[in-house]
Amino acid sequence: MPIFKVPGPLGVNVPGPNVFGRDPFYANGIHQAPSCGSNGGCAPYQSHMAHKQSPLDAPEWDGVVNICYDVKGKQFGELIMSLRDSAISYSQDRHAELLRWDEISKARTRRWFNSSDEEIRDYLLPIIDSVIRVLKTLTPENFDYDTQENSVRAGCLPGQGMVVTGVLAAVCPTDIVAHRIAINMGFFEVPKMGYLYESQSFGVRDSQLLTLLHEVMHFHDVASSIDYFPGVNSASRNFADVKAKMNSDGLAAYILAIA
Ligand SMILES: [Zn+2]
Repeated sequence: MPIFKVPGPLGVNVPGPNVFGRDPFYANGIHQAPSCGSNGGCAPYQSHMAHKQSPLDAPEWDGVVNICYDVKGKQFGELIMSLRDSAISYSQDRHAELLRWDEISKARTRRWFNSSDEEIRDYLLPIIDSVIRVLKTLTPENFDYDTQENSVRAGCLPGQGMVVTGVLAAVCPTDIVAHRIAINMGFFEVPKMGYLYESQSFGVRDSQLLTLLHEVMHFHDVASSIDYFPGVNSASRNFADVKAKMNSDGLAAYILAIA
């Protein structure tokens, strides 16, 4: 079955009824991406803290991106590759930290998984190796619209690839050769990185970067993670649960060193 990334703290994690009829981009069995300037088209999304026109022109920009829901477009390709590079960099930081296995490293694994013993270190190291390996193979070709057809193509059963309002992205965890990641409309409505205002630290809100790491964690050749505690806040509250180390948002938050 598909595993979705739903919005975190403010989201509602309920798949709900078939919502095709209410999805403005769903028509004739496929997802339609509106083109810029088309009728009723694609107004720029306003960031809460927008201070530049485009994150693609200014790497420090952290607002919502106006690329017209165009998952197959050049701009999305550039965006997702920059997110991939950031995700690799953070994963490499965590890998190096686990090898050092100093007090900072142990404090961080306690923070997210309630453990700083050798077992958690030995558990996390191969997962991070796999995250880096898979991220490095991703190109814009790996990303597509979240449609029934694409879901079935990725190995999910017919009827389970439903486009659900509020979902940011989805994968089929068994899709370990192609690693296809379906992007939903909500993805374009969260910040790129999720930095706290005027800082390089991440907040607890959903971001595109967190979502990318979250989805990669689901693959069976990475962590086979489950959305036990969706959202960084929920993952944080449940850090002492035995399922915390299998929880997608907790693993993603750990890699991003959310404090
Ligand atoms: Zn998920």
